[in-house]
Amino acid sequence: MNATRRDFLKTSMAMAAAAALANPAKLFASGTKKTGQSQKASSSEKMVLTFEPFEARMKHVFTISGSSRSTTPIVLTRISYQGHVGYGEASMPPYLGESSASVMDFLRRVDLSRFSSPFQMEEILTYVDNITTNNTAAKCAVDIALHDLCGKLMGQPWWKIWGWSNKNLPSTCVTVGLAYAPDGSIDREEVRKKTLETLDYNLIKVKLGNTGENDKTMINTIREVTNLPIVVDANQGWKEKGYALSMIEWLAARGVEMVEQPMPKLLLDEAAWLRDRSPLPIMADEACQRLSDVRKLYGAYDGINIKLMKCTGMREAREMITLAKALNMRIMMGCMTETSVAISAAAQFASQLEWADLDGNWLIANDIFTGMKVVDGYITLEDKPGIGVEPL
Ligand code: MG
Repeated sequence: MNATRRDFLKTSMAMAAAAALANPAKLFASGTKKTGQSQKASSSEKMVLTFEPFEARMKHVFTISGSSRSTTPIVLTRISYQGHVGYGEASMPPYLGESSASVMDFLRRVDLSRFSSPFQMEEILTYVDNITTNNTAAKCAVDIALHDLCGKLMGQPWWKIWGWSNKNLPSTCVTVGLAYAPDGSIDREEVRKKTLETLDYNLIKVKLGNTGENDKTMINTIREVTNLPIVVDANQGWKEKGYALSMIEWLAARGVEMVEQPMPKLLLDEAAWLRDRSPLPIMADEACQRLSDVRKLYGAYDGINIKLMKCTGMREAREMITLAKALNMRIMMGCMTETSVAISAAAQFASQLEWADLDGNWLIANDIFTGMKVVDGYITLEDKPGIGVEPL
């Protein structure tokens, strides 16, 4: 019996060592490894921030107007305090200008030991925001971990702390990315295949903003497979307002219900012209980064796409929702390529959203957390405290 138990322990230790080599981030998530630390864990009464890089592998090469990639750099964060751990994450798609190195440089400057309680959230997150002007994803990684920690200390999820509901939540849309043949035309077979993988959802998101021919081929190919409603993201790809309007009219006739960022983000007068004439609602994504942008966009767009990585996290996202509602603007929440940590943080807002684009964890092959579940295409929220995630 003893020998058997000894063997079991030996095997477990060997397996743990092998797992550490294969996936260090997994051990980080479960709390056994710290590769970055912003301050010494001198007292269990103090918050301790730790962090580690992680590479998210995409299930498919992801192409939007202007770029393609198969991995996304992420930095995972943890804030430990009195035996509780809050998880956070920064995701850095290349166009945002942050990298694992810049995020970790930022996190090394965050000194949480100067605060006595994680419930000093306003003070802590204002301090974090004031460290630099940009670094929104790095700031978000602290914000999410702090929210997760405080929710756990209170024993409640944030959707409930904020007084919101977990009933009748929206569907999340799921993205069918662009796929090109070697000659630069749309790879129709690949698009059909990708579309078939999305049919368990209720809403498809399509990335356009290409040439008119390719854009129309994408929609026509998807329509050969399904009549599910579509939202379109042009990622600033249509450069001229008359052309943008003609595309939107063409899309409206094919079951598209909303268009995100049709034109370049700085063209506000053109966006207002387009909004006055468009048969579909126009949402600002690249044009809307933080709270201070919302008022500028009023009148030019019907609504805003909030992303935690753009706006520094859950605290500011909630303020943006309050302001957008006051301005009678429509609200959507999107994501980057993210693990279930950031997706579950965003899902806390689900009851406030007209459109949810929270498929970032579905798009990656190596998620190391479990959190928000999509059931029959709909976002669901449980009673698990904080942001409701656990390491896998
Ligand atoms: Mg977008």
